[in-house]
Amino acid sequence: MRKFGAVIVSLFLLYVLSYVGVRSLDGAITGMRFHRGPHVENLVVPPPQPAPPAIWPLPNAPLTAVPAPTPSRSLRVVIDAGHGAPENPGNTSVFCEPEQEFTLRTQDEIVRRLQSRSFLEVRAGRPSKALLPYPDRKDAAERWPADAFISLHSDARAGDGWAVHPETRCYVGLGAPGFSVLYSDEGDPVLVERRRRLAQRIAVRMEEAGFPAYSGIDYGGLYDADAQAGVFVDRHAPKKRIMMLRRPKIPSVIVETHQAVDPEEAARWNEPRTLDAFAAALAAALVDVAES
Ligand SMILES: [Zn+2]
Repeated sequence: MRKFGAVIVSLFLLYVLSYVGVRSLDGAITGMRFHRGPHVENLVVPPPQPAPPAIWPLPNAPLTAVPAPTPSRSLRVVIDAGHGAPENPGNTSVFCEPEQEFTLRTQDEIVRRLQSRSFLEVRAGRPSKALLPYPDRKDAAERWPADAFISLHSDARAGDGWAVHPETRCYVGLGAPGFSVLYSDEGDPVLVERRRRLAQRIAVRMEEAGFPAYSGIDYGGLYDADAQAGVFVDRHAPKKRIMMLRRPKIPSVIVETHQAVDPEEAARWNEPRTLDAFAAALAAALVDVAES
């Protein structure tokens, strides 16, 4: 009987405890509801932030057509489509385009844009698809005479390594984007200084426009880096040095506009805004050189 009484007492205590527990839980839930209201109302939602600018060569990476000051005299420039010389088609892009076709198309676009500048007289170094030996281009530019000879090329460097594009089967290299400007320090010091100055001003103006300079990671033994980022001096073995950098009697440089094996960069160089920004950078650089 005593045992029965203990069971009854235990059951009663269990009932009381469970009742209190349920009420407490209910209170806690109610409390939570009560407290959550003001927190939600006080939440400060930050305004939407503008997306950071895309980094070159991604689409929509910002480019600027830098303004060119008006020079005190008119200037003559040859814009040359690199390669397109006998047995010299140049590289093959990630889209399997021969370099000589890219340079011809780009030359024509840049010539057309620069011809709209009143202070520039512009000629194409390779006026048609017909193959044209480099000595002929050099002679024509010297006869005119041009103030500057700018040969357009694209580069094809491995950077971090090569791969094969899954669709085109042509080579891809992603680790070395950017432009480079090449010159020769061989010969008459006055002419060398004019070449260097032209190369440096083109690089400065291209960077100002938003084109990044190539690091030179693959240039060991071929070119030395200049003090100006993106500018390199020809260091090929003497018999392999680039004729169009060392022979013309007028200042001549090569602009490697981009890496043809980088799919994004190659795509950007087919866009009118890229050509607009590049043409403006060249115009500004030519004025910089003429006025210095
Ligand atoms: Zn080339």
